[in-house]
Amino acid sequence: MSTRLPQDTPMLDELERGPWPSFVTNLKRLAQDNDMMVDLLGQLETSYRDCKGYWKGGTVGVFGYGGGIIPRFTELKDENGKPLFPDAAEFHTLRVQPPAGMHYSSDLLRKLCDVWVGSGGSGLIALHGQSGDIMFQGISTENVQKAFDGLNEMGFDLGGAGPALRTSMSCVGAARCEMSCYDEARALRTVINNNLDDMHRPSLPYKFKFKFSGCPNDCVNAIQRSDMATIGTWRDNIRVDEKLVQDYYQVHGMHDLYTDVVGHCPTKAITVVPSDQVKADAHTSVARLGDGNALCIDNSNCVRCMHCLNVIPGGLRPGVDKGVTILVGGKGVLKIGATMGSVIIPFMKLETDEDFDKLYQLARNILDFFAENALDHERTGEMIERIGLANFLEAMNIPVDPNMISQPRSNPYFRSDDWDEQAAKWAEFKQEAA
Ligand code: SF4
Repeated sequence: MSTRLPQDTPMLDELERGPWPSFVTNLKRLAQDNDMMVDLLGQLETSYRDCKGYWKGGTVGVFGYGGGIIPRFTELKDENGKPLFPDAAEFHTLRVQPPAGMHYSSDLLRKLCDVWVGSGGSGLIALHGQSGDIMFQGISTENVQKAFDGLNEMGFDLGGAGPALRTSMSCVGAARCEMSCYDEARALRTVINNNLDDMHRPSLPYKFKFKFSGCPNDCVNAIQRSDMATIGTWRDNIRVDEKLVQDYYQVHGMHDLYTDVVGHCPTKAITVVPSDQVKADAHTSVARLGDGNALCIDNSNCVRCMHCLNVIPGGLRPGVDKGVTILVGGKGVLKIGATMGSVIIPFMKLETDEDFDKLYQLARNILDFFAENALDHERTGEMIERIGLANFLEAMNIPVDPNMISQPRSNPYFRSDDWDEQAAKWAEFKQEAA
């Protein structure tokens, strides 16, 4: 049992009202037998009351690691410099790398809890933070090493803080998702396991993140949040299971088919036509609806946005000629605002050992170039913005490809200075890459 009673928390109590589960309720539950939680409630209540966060950072680490601990010290002190909430005066977070695809056994989860509580941790665990990490929140400086040693013995690694190669994420992928276009877990392990030096003994100007999504739904937000995003895609036709498309049609009817599927295709690649007018060519996927009409998808105009596949799961599926698209430069707001990744490899296969080795080499080249050329506190996207995408591609020896466009041209005018030189350069690149 806690030796002290929870504080009065009128501001926090407000967060328990309403239809949604509240973290405050859980903190209060933990506070029944945990003094750190009692003081955390006091600290948070004061912050909400004063509209001010009262945490400050500092330097806390574990032996042999460049990053991975988020230090948090209270700023709430009395006139003698003593913390107002002493049991939560140090409330650090361990950011631990999750397994690829975030697969755990219940036994492993129990062991994680035992190590955390057994090392003096608060008991709070977040699966997972926005960075993808397992977040062990609330531990004193004295106990950080002990908690990390316990987690490390289980095979876990820190990864989520500082100017280093950071925790990587892959979606649940092929294990549970029919949209998966490659082996996400293998890609993650190939890239991360071979670059661990940049995580443990980093010499990078700033953080660098790899993320892996099995399809363009991009469930780990790789395009927005990673310096190098590997996104599954396909280059042949969308596969059709006619029976499942008909099942959808019987339940939803023509109105929903038009408003939810046909009308939402961004490139108007989907049409519904009478069955006897179906164009049987190599680029068209066809599902007969059973009432004399057919759903047709013009795959040469499909941009793999995933909308129709998501609305009719199983009925429409990615093709069989699968691979990945690689983008670089995504990140949250910083110097130049939020950026999405830019395509640098429109399509590459990722099936054989050789393919995975190619992915690793590309990752290594980008990481090396970043380490040597980025300014202090500059992300890859900002570095590319500063030096120009064409120069970055040239340094990576990647030929410029018309498929790298970010959007179709809207201006019909163009300048043709250096046109011939650029065309010759492109032809040379293509020849070298072939
Ligand atoms: Fe259209 Fe292709 Fe998106 Fe389907 S996946 S809605 S066909 S662009």
